[in-house]
Amino acid sequence: SALKAGAKVFVTGHRGMVGSAIVRRLQRAGYERVITRSRQELDLLDQRAVAAFMAAERPDYVFIAAAKVGGIQANNVYRADFIYENLTIAANLIHAAHQAGVQRLMFLGSSCIYPKLAPQPLHEDSLLTGLLEPTNEPYAIAKIAGIKLCEAYNAQYGRQYVSVMPTNLYGPNDNYDLANSHVLPALIRKAHEAKQRGDAEYVVWGSGTPMREFLYVDELADACVHLAEQGYDGPLVNIGTGEDVTIRELAETVMDVIGFTGRIAFDSSKPDGTPRKLLDVSRLRALGWQARLPLREGIALAYQDFLARYAQA
Ligand code: GDP
Repeated sequence: SALKAGAKVFVTGHRGMVGSAIVRRLQRAGYERVITRSRQELDLLDQRAVAAFMAAERPDYVFIAAAKVGGIQANNVYRADFIYENLTIAANLIHAAHQAGVQRLMFLGSSCIYPKLAPQPLHEDSLLTGLLEPTNEPYAIAKIAGIKLCEAYNAQYGRQYVSVMPTNLYGPNDNYDLANSHVLPALIRKAHEAKQRGDAEYVVWGSGTPMREFLYVDELADACVHLAEQGYDGPLVNIGTGEDVTIRELAETVMDVIGFTGRIAFDSSKPDGTPRKLLDVSRLRALGWQARLPLREGIALAYQDFLARYAQA
């Protein structure tokens, strides 16, 4: 049956940006049986431990928000870690859920699963129609395997395992480490530090011409719970806003929100990655969900969270 308040829900990756947003969303809606485990309590790379946990808990619903994630540079450098950890997390959790009789599960992927040169906006049917962007191919292959695992358990065993593909996410609990983070948290930190130091410029990687779409993570969590509560069990669903901006426009909006009045310096020694990555969100809209928060407002909220945590650190 569809997800509803009384259900025992296991959220993996609850310390991360996505998992913590799903937990917040469930708690706000009155779910009282949300289970989480820290890495110390349950190592998702340990097949036996995951199987034993799932058999003991037998949740009604599992959200797979646990993943090894990072920006363009981390994906490119730690290629083995990205494919191995993400493949193993997906295989361990999906198989163990099935073995424990868990009928419903939601697997979260990423828009980088689509071919580099697929038509834009990226429709769900473009999956596996061409070559991937090389910088994040290991991560993408692991996420594609997760989607195919869900499809296979559905086909062979009648499970109702759903995969959703979020666009670039940002918000509370984001990673602000400059070497490994995604573009938006990196720009928030760089603009903030440039303002504090009174610098004349702040450095933005690449040419500024790639286009990206950004979704505030609490909106993602809302979309996921919306689909789960509907009992959606159809094919892959993209989750995004349906609108994108150039990296230059993004960098300008971030400066504006933060109040850094210097200029942008583009570092062309850093990679641009894929030229455009806008999701086709028509399937999601037909299922009754649409993003509402304007990018500028979301960046202001993310900046508040950054200030709260940055001040602590
Ligand atoms: P991608 O969406 O998988 O390519 O990952 P990112 O979020 O890391 O990068 C998106 C785009 O932002 C790429 O074109 C980057 O070159 C560009 N970018 C500009 N400045 C930065 C930065 O400081 N950090 C990161 N990660 N990307 C940046």
